[in-house]
Amino acid sequence: MATQICDSSSVTRVRDARGPARRFKHILIAVFMTAPVLAHAADCPREGTLGTSRTLVVDTKESPRVGLKSFPHTLALEDKEVVLTFDDGPLPATTNKILTALAAECVQATFFIVGRNAQSYPQILKAEIKAGHTIGNHTWSHQMLDHLDETHALEEINKGFAADDAALGALKPATAQFFRFPYFASTPALLDNLQSRGVVVFGADLWASDWLPMTPQQELELLTQRLSQVRKGIILLHDTKIHTAAMLPAFLRYLKTNGYKVVHVVPAPLKAASAAPAGNSLAANAPQGHTGN
Ligand SMILES: [Zn+2]
Repeated sequence: MATQICDSSSVTRVRDARGPARRFKHILIAVFMTAPVLAHAADCPREGTLGTSRTLVVDTKESPRVGLKSFPHTLALEDKEVVLTFDDGPLPATTNKILTALAAECVQATFFIVGRNAQSYPQILKAEIKAGHTIGNHTWSHQMLDHLDETHALEEINKGFAADDAALGALKPATAQFFRFPYFASTPALLDNLQSRGVVVFGADLWASDWLPMTPQQELELLTQRLSQVRKGIILLHDTKIHTAAMLPAFLRYLKTNGYKVVHVVPAPLKAASAAPAGNSLAANAPQGHTGN
């Protein structure tokens, strides 16, 4: 079942982001006034920043599918631990702002890339890897895969992986892969296929509904309200959204001020992933152009 996320044209206004946003305005203004003009991940760790508290290796053998919005299991996070994920990029106008905000707070995130965007903006993918972020794939052209036959759905997946690999070139890490279905529109057959290849499928535990039109203040209020209720989890955001890029510095400050910790998820080393049962290895199932190494 597809979940209505990302660029949905059928929903035109925010129903749940209303309410008193005034108190967030001063947070946003303060962040904009004090944020450094340039911030580099190479300067991290840096005192006073949110930082990345720990790295969590996610292996398909133990966690083939994570995210309570779609699956019964999620990552083993402690109370007040969050994982930041961004979908649909890269897009220069917004993704670069996201990267600057993350670097300013020495935070590592995961980007689920749309392959055709990677082909258009390979330098941004390289910047993400160089800053220590994790790259996952989000198909070639962001179609609803449960509306395609399996052959075409696999082409969308494989072409997406291949585009990311081509964009990264020699920077491509020797790890297994992360993947997120557009609109969370998975099928049992595609999930089985990805698991057999050592690919971890990410859902999400909470989101900011940032595919809806909203102001940065509304998004900040909605996201912090939701986070305060569940207190931890995989957070879905979109690095293609102007309001998310504008909101992120204040959200990272909120996490710091309220004692949250950011966990950086990374795929397992390729050797471990390829130790799957015979005939089920990543290499045996690697799509054309995506050998996994
Ligand atoms: Zn998406």
